[in-house]
Amino acid sequence: MSKGMLIVLSGPSGVGKGTVRKAMVKKSRIRFDYSISMTTREMRPREREGIDYYFRTKEEFENEIKNDGMLEYAQYVDNYYGTPIKYVQEKLDAGRDVLLEIEVNGAMQVREKMPDGVFIFLTPPDLGSLRDRISHRGTEDNATIDKRIEKARQEIELMSHYDYAVVNDEIPRAVRKIENIIRSEHLKVSRVYDSYKKVIGDK
Ligand code: 5GP
Repeated sequence: MSKGMLIVLSGPSGVGKGTVRKAMVKKSRIRFDYSISMTTREMRPREREGIDYYFRTKEEFENEIKNDGMLEYAQYVDNYYGTPIKYVQEKLDAGRDVLLEIEVNGAMQVREKMPDGVFIFLTPPDLGSLRDRISHRGTEDNATIDKRIEKARQEIELMSHYDYAVVNDEIPRAVRKIENIIRSEHLKVSRVYDSYKKVIGDK
């Protein structure tokens, strides 16, 4: 059986990765399994153990790292976040696609370990037109403009390490684009070649 595809949804903080991921899980007709992350942060109201995250203590998390239990992990605002490797490996081996929704440092670790994954960068809607909008508006002081442009520069730089960029302007639209990426990726010759080769027998 051919292996499943790893899909990594990432992007700068505040871009709405979580919202797009939830819409994918709820609304998408594409089949995939979502990998639930582990975190040391406090549970928020309405969040549930084993659905939103696996909530663990710092010590438990660090033990997982020591035991090679994490595909990737990162520290974000004083907390650990990471992807347990077991679930991902089992699903991929069973031929299922797996979706991760993680911040950028973690995504770069996955890129190293699993380069044939599909890496999607979610971008804020105003990134491309930031300079125009700021200079037309004329309300921001210079220090603020510099800061915003520097942040945009860093985000565009990060994007260069990904395969696809999806603007998060409207959630249903972003979801459709991600679905199209997944469908096209499945048709790539590099992904289907082996199964075709079996038909004629390996020489
Ligand atoms: P939040 O605390 O708002 O749920 O998540 C904070 C950040 O952590 C978000 O940018 C989210 O994408 C990221 N995140 C969630 N799970 C993981 C994970 O397993 N690994 C990494 N590296 N980041 C994660």
